[in-house]
Amino acid sequence: MLDPVTPAGRLGLAALRRDPRHAVVALDYDGTLAPIVSRPEEAVPQVGTVEVLTALAGRVGRIALVTGRPADVVVALAGLAPVPGLVVLGQYGVQRWQAGSLAEQPPAPGLAEARRALPSLLDEPGVQVEDKGLSLVVHTRQADDPVGALARLHPVLSALAARTGLQLTPGRLVLELRPRGYDKGRALRTLVDGSSAVLFAGDDLGDLAAFDTVDALREEGTEGLLVCSDSEEAPEALRSRADLVVPGPPGVVQLLNDLAGEL
Ligand SMILES: [Mg+2]
Repeated sequence: MLDPVTPAGRLGLAALRRDPRHAVVALDYDGTLAPIVSRPEEAVPQVGTVEVLTALAGRVGRIALVTGRPADVVVALAGLAPVPGLVVLGQYGVQRWQAGSLAEQPPAPGLAEARRALPSLLDEPGVQVEDKGLSLVVHTRQADDPVGALARLHPVLSALAARTGLQLTPGRLVLELRPRGYDKGRALRTLVDGSSAVLFAGDDLGDLAAFDTVDALREEGTEGLLVCSDSEEAPEALRSRADLVVPGPPGVVQLLNDLAGEL
């Protein structure tokens, strides 16, 4: 499993093995540590997730989750509170959870208006809104034609985002209205400070920003290892940039177990 296909990935893994105490291991949640399910509140982690994160926590400098979901929701859902030193950056870095306490930015000014306007714009059966408090997510997975519904809603929600000063971010059968200026790349950067290496694993378009940050860190002298949690829905843009492609959350947990066993 620990066999990067790129020279840069091999450098990243070597740096991680050489100096794990100064390495960062940062992971997306949905689709990476938990299988994608129709109802997000049922996205329980892959078996062995808590155990392997705990094992890694004692071996690497920083273990973190970087997720689009509310940080406290993921911690509760996945039972992550006991993982020593774990940091969870939620809602693309708008929130930071650590040792049981949650810090977050105030809501974006246009969010209340977007929340009011949204219901009247969604007229297809099965299209659902998830209110994350600091962002709004439109899900089309339950619509009769999920891909078509997503395509029809994109321009409508783009216009709403422009009007309310929010950013529209697409994902796996979702469109998210969220504060501008936050993404997983910026979030990941807050975890890195003189680090020897950074491992980042993700499965979706929102993870590309973190891939960009790892590429930038490489230029600055911190090695990186980019992992794609693969599935039929995984974007080619992510898969093609990864140093390692593993089969979904079971593959990610196996990879982390292999790594923990070596460090
Ligand atoms: Mg994901």
